Amino acid sequence: MSDRAGIAVEQVPVCLLCGSRGQPLYESLSDRMFDAPGAWGYLQCPGCGLAWLNPRPLPAPPNVDLRNG
Ligand SMILES: [Zn+2]
Repeated sequence: MSDRAGIAVEQVPVCLLCGSRGQPLYESLSDRMFDAPGAWGYLQCPGCGLAWLNPRPLPAPPNVDLRNG
């Protein structure tokens, strides 16, 4: 029940607000807030101070078909 391969993630290297490249704020966290497996980190924007989860998990696709394969 702890397989990160089952979670789709995307890299978010730049600030969502101003587009500046994020600086590492926290790295290799074991997520206790969302009980998600694997290591997660936070980036913070040097420009506007926004912090965000990177990589961030994506919502599961609505039509995942695990029978194919
Ligand atoms: Zn910013």
